[in-house]
Amino acid sequence: MNVLVINAGSSSLKYQLIDMDTQAVLAKGLCERIGIEGSRLKHTPEGKDSVTLESPMRDHSDAIKMVIDALVDKNHGVIADMSAIDAVGHRVVHGGEYFNQSVIVDDDVKKKIDECSMLAPLHNPANLIGIEACQKAMPGVPMVAVFDTAFHQTMPAEAYMYALPYEYYDKYKIRKYGFHGTSHYYVANRCAAMMGKAIEDLRIITLHLGNGSSITAVNKGKSVDTSMGFTPLAGVPMGTRSGVIDPAIVTFLMEKEGLSVAETDAMLNKKSGVFGISGLSSDFRDLDEAAAKGDEKAKLALSMFEYSVKRYIGFYAAAMGGVDAIVFTAGVGENSIQMRERILADMEFMGIACDAEKNNVRGKETEITKDGAKVRSFVIPTNEELTIALDTQKLLKK
Ligand code: ADP
Repeated sequence: MNVLVINAGSSSLKYQLIDMDTQAVLAKGLCERIGIEGSRLKHTPEGKDSVTLESPMRDHSDAIKMVIDALVDKNHGVIADMSAIDAVGHRVVHGGEYFNQSVIVDDDVKKKIDECSMLAPLHNPANLIGIEACQKAMPGVPMVAVFDTAFHQTMPAEAYMYALPYEYYDKYKIRKYGFHGTSHYYVANRCAAMMGKAIEDLRIITLHLGNGSSITAVNKGKSVDTSMGFTPLAGVPMGTRSGVIDPAIVTFLMEKEGLSVAETDAMLNKKSGVFGISGLSSDFRDLDEAAAKGDEKAKLALSMFEYSVKRYIGFYAAAMGGVDAIVFTAGVGENSIQMRERILADMEFMGIACDAEKNNVRGKETEITKDGAKVRSFVIPTNEELTIALDTQKLLKK
């Protein structure tokens, strides 16, 4: 069985074709600049060089057509024809309170994804366009929606409610949803497998640290709390996002600086985080380099990030009555040896300690626990595409 995994953004579309018998990626790629001038497709067949195909893509339907053409192409294709695509798994950012697991797409599901657009105006409409473009290009091929929020639907009300007038929950569904759910779910389960234990017997803190970062408390396999909130702006400081701040700062600055709603939104989402503090870059590699040269603001940005992540480890250990394992994933979590070491430093009192030699790895599934430490620590590269494909396969087998 071959599953095509689609991650549609507003002007981009990422894809992977996965052979489920071997879990091998047959090809992957990215369509960029959909609907604007200079649109192109970068297609990488497994084990071969990438090709970049430039051709106008007016919309996502054009993009999907180009993806299919690339997949069946004589030279760089990987399947004989379209009938070799058995199903399509779509990443959908927001499932609101409707979806606590993946679902086969029908009209009702599409309606609900559309209703959740209020909660993710930049993402859900693009995800829906991706689904409809695939339905048009591949009539009869089953589509599955896999939600970033679904894994977190197990949070108890005391974790997901905000202490605002209750009417806003009724009226606008204002609550914590959490994001990166597919990633937290995948790495928590890989962690249990690496420990040779049932996930039901474990309390795991998963640290998805990338350009966007979130931290989740996974108790007995279920998300019981997570650092992102109503939107992906909450939690730790990120590349350009502020993370949690005193909410009164927002109205204070709007008044003092005369900021509009849109300007405030842009300031918090695009001009803050480690970029805002350093004034240099949102990329942790640039900050490492600047800090090594003595840049004080880059050092401060990195220290704030480290401290903020540490805080969540304490917070979630308390929430679960202890912790058995810590998992690092995503760009920074998988690759920054230094940041992992800093986050785990001085945590012996909790039974957490990292072995400097074992931690000297990038992008590889491995254990980094110091001998004798009670809590085990791991680096586990995330694989959201495989998780989406596996969920798709599982639903179709039912
Ligand atoms: P996204 O949230 O966009 O999916 P990623 O998970 O790909 O982000 O993470 C991107 C981040 O990972 C960037 O900030 C980049 O600096 C960081 N990163 C990648 N490699 C390293 C490294 N070797 N050291 C430190 N940070 C790294």
